[in-house]
Amino acid sequence: MENEEKSLNFIEEIVEQDLRTEKHDGRVLTRFPPEPNGYLHIGHAKSICLNFGLAKKYKGKTNLRFDDTNPVTEDTEYVESIKKDIKWLGFEWAEELYTSDYFQQLYDFAVDLIKKGLAYVDDSTAEEIAAAKGTPTEPGTPTPYRDRSIDENIRLFEEMRLGKYQEGEKVLRAKIDLSSPNMHMRDPLLYRIKYANHHRTGNAWPIYPMYDFAHGQSDAIEKITHSICTLEFIPHRPLYDWCIEKLEIFPSKQYEFARLNLNYTVMSKRKLLQLVNEHHVESWDDPRMPTISGLRRRGYTPASIVDFCDRIGVAKRENIIDMGLLEFCIREDLNKTAWRRMAVLDPIKMIITNYPDGQIEELEGENNPEVEGGEGSRKIPFSKELWIERDDFMEEPPKKFFRLGPGLSVRLKNAYIVECHNFVKDENGNVTEIHCNYIPNSKSGEDTSGLKVKGTIHWVSVPHAKKAEVRLYERLFNVENPAAEEDFKSTINPDSLKVISNAYLEPDLATAEAGKGYQFIRLGYFTLDTKSTTENLVFNRTVTLKDSWAKEVKKG
Ligand code: ATP
Ligand code: MG
Repeated sequence: MENEEKSLNFIEEIVEQDLRTEKHDGRVLTRFPPEPNGYLHIGHAKSICLNFGLAKKYKGKTNLRFDDTNPVTEDTEYVESIKKDIKWLGFEWAEELYTSDYFQQLYDFAVDLIKKGLAYVDDSTAEEIAAAKGTPTEPGTPTPYRDRSIDENIRLFEEMRLGKYQEGEKVLRAKIDLSSPNMHMRDPLLYRIKYANHHRTGNAWPIYPMYDFAHGQSDAIEKITHSICTLEFIPHRPLYDWCIEKLEIFPSKQYEFARLNLNYTVMSKRKLLQLVNEHHVESWDDPRMPTISGLRRRGYTPASIVDFCDRIGVAKRENIIDMGLLEFCIREDLNKTAWRRMAVLDPIKMIITNYPDGQIEELEGENNPEVEGGEGSRKIPFSKELWIERDDFMEEPPKKFFRLGPGLSVRLKNAYIVECHNFVKDENGNVTEIHCNYIPNSKSGEDTSGLKVKGTIHWVSVPHAKKAEVRLYERLFNVENPAAEEDFKSTINPDSLKVISNAYLEPDLATAEAGKGYQFIRLGYFTLDTKSTTENLVFNRTVTLKDSWAKEVKKG
């Protein structure tokens, strides 16, 4: 998007203020901290664009930090996919880091808090701790373990680390304020016991730090200047600051922005995982998924996603973005970049009765009429028998039908004008063949016929056509906010995937590459599926040519 005049978002304002006052010596270091427990989705793209975008704009850097403190749900498959997606979006991280690399340091921080009398080992059960926390209007009460001596706390915490206790038997808590109006400050948990195989540290650690004791400290260890997260972490900020202050470590600061919410989809990784595990979609990269990998397989480009994130901006208040905006962005991009090709999705045969048997012409078609020079051209074979779209013919056409019917003429794209003089039906009354005459001196680019026709239709030469499967996608959910439903899966759109198994493509499409956008003329934007093979060509529809959705909703 052209944005020379765009005003600063509130985080840019903070960064510019910090640069003016030479805070951190004018250094800007952000981080993107995914938990490797799922694939990245379009919401993460917003965070990526913001964190990496800030660093780019202010000549800083961004770390990629895997926030891997929950061994049960995390996996290296996710680590790899996350790296691939960030690179694909066009961003480069300064360092690839893992919270698990800081486990020893975080442990030492915890011991430091204990020594300062600011943390204690609590033997209470989770239920007892919850009950003693009070309510937002009533203060909490201390458990019997709150006043253990520093020496005892050190010994017990060491024993936790050595694996002497069962899960749930003990936790480490900060000793802050049981009557704080902020529930997060009422002696929050810092460590829990967990016997699980961690994807990087294996069984080395039987205890794991909680988010609140890992995140800010990791920021400080890396000397992050601006730690940007979503609004739900606002109540965690006092604890973030408390830990940094008490540990006397680098003063990273947390800033919160509104997460991206998109209608007609879900964005929690837990829900996305359910869709995959319960086979509502093929995989994390199913083209109907809001994941980066799904959007990529669907034919979205990095530029369109970055543009989308740029257009929605950075806000301090939650809102819901219309899926139509994301579709608008990819349409904008593909209109400029996609190569034009012809494909027939619902074929019916046309025979040009006055065209010589066996004759083949190699016609020229520009790849991209949107740019000067057309980005070159490709050859399109033309012959006596063509596939055309079934709905481009009507036996009894109404007045303003500018396509084919008895006695009607159209131009065949990049080729000749043809006039329909006959058609053939089968015993069930279905039209099976359309017969036309072509006008020999009406060839595109050298037309001397003087004829004017209103309609142009696409076509594919029968003997040259490549058969393909084409997948048409609709929204995955029937309601705007599936997450608000009792069972979000009950709102899955049963027609979100329509498979056309006998589409015909112009032969040049046999060499299409996944990730390259093609406009199938008059039909929409498509890309080769990543699982397509030479024997079994598969194309995905990225998006329709125009926004038909808004109209559909109005019609009801
Ligand atoms: P989920 O709740 O789906 O598991 P998460 O927020 O826990 O998502 P993380 O892997 O922890 O996922 O997220 C990494 C970063 O991406 C965090 O900084 C988080 O705030 C940000 N993020 C996640 N979802 C969104 C969203 N919808 N919009 C903007 N940023 C997001
Ligand atoms: Mg998270």
